[in-house]
Amino acid sequence: MKNKIFNYDIAELTEFLIKNNFKKYNATQIFEWLYEHNETNFNNMTNLSKNLQDFLTKNFTTINLKIVKVEKSVDTYKFLFCLEDNNYIESVVMLHDYGKSVCISTQVGCNMGCTFCESGRLKKIRNLQTYEMLEQIYLIQKELNIKINSVVLMGIGEPFDNYDNVLKFVKLINNPKTLAIGARHITISTCGIVPKIKQFSEENLQVNLALSLHAPNNELRSKLMKINKVYPIEDVLKEIKNYINKTNRRVTIEYLLLKDVNDQERHALELVKLLKNLNVYVNLIPYNETSKINYNKSKKVQILKFYDILKKNNINVTIRKEFGKEISAACGQLRSKEVNK
Ligand code: SAH
Repeated sequence: MKNKIFNYDIAELTEFLIKNNFKKYNATQIFEWLYEHNETNFNNMTNLSKNLQDFLTKNFTTINLKIVKVEKSVDTYKFLFCLEDNNYIESVVMLHDYGKSVCISTQVGCNMGCTFCESGRLKKIRNLQTYEMLEQIYLIQKELNIKINSVVLMGIGEPFDNYDNVLKFVKLINNPKTLAIGARHITISTCGIVPKIKQFSEENLQVNLALSLHAPNNELRSKLMKINKVYPIEDVLKEIKNYINKTNRRVTIEYLLLKDVNDQERHALELVKLLKNLNVYVNLIPYNETSKINYNKSKKVQILKFYDILKKNNINVTIRKEFGKEISAACGQLRSKEVNK
């Protein structure tokens, strides 16, 4: 099988070219074509020798993902991609006032089994490779003719269940010679795999970490997220504390609000106790209802009540703006529709 050019950083491509009697500067030329001119046909890379063009065509593929569907609403685009093995994944593009962000998938399906999540209903089939994560962004930029400014790993999959590929991907897109996404504009979201949070704290990266907490006590969290039976709240928060101490970075705590399940005053107060003295900020997420799962979105007044309690108790908190409600933008929904056909 041919190599995937979008798996390569410039050092790796240089090494490969030199080994095959090409020049170091050829790697720079190729990267300029790929990432500055969005050119993916080697034969159109006009400053390369015919010999090198042929060599590249013989040894590498560029685009491997296919765009199957694009759903658009006012401020959101949802992309469904087909992979070479005919699996589906999806990405969501959000147009903020301050820039364009994309939410990408890291796995085909997910094994974490969170009860409220559409992605988890369909079990993991496989991990995505680095190039498959990168191509989501690359193709979106090309298709919409935009430059993506920030990337969140909050689509289908658990990033820390695909650690090595995800880390390589993050380093690759952060490089100024590729997609040049600033480290502080990259967010990895995890359901709380403790040893991986620890490993991640040792990488010395400036990217953002988000923890999906969703409940303020173990009894409730274990009902919502089966990972909590392996890594309960106290273990996860201890590791988050270590992470903050080591990296000096503030961590985001995601808290999904499910009507009458975890959105009551007592939950907010319990959450305050749990997070007091931690350098975190809480992102309250209005639930995106999906047809197959029996949870409901909290009422607006309840969300605001919850918000106020945190605020009054000096917890940094925001409510996530809702994007793309009318186009099934919750992670996993578009893929799940396609698979169910
Ligand atoms: N596995 C990772 C990242 C993917 S999920 C994680 O658990 O963090 C990204 C975020 O979306 C998580 O906080 C997840 O709990 C949340 N989420 C899942 N289903 C949702 C839905 N229907 N509405 C809103 N948020 C959802």
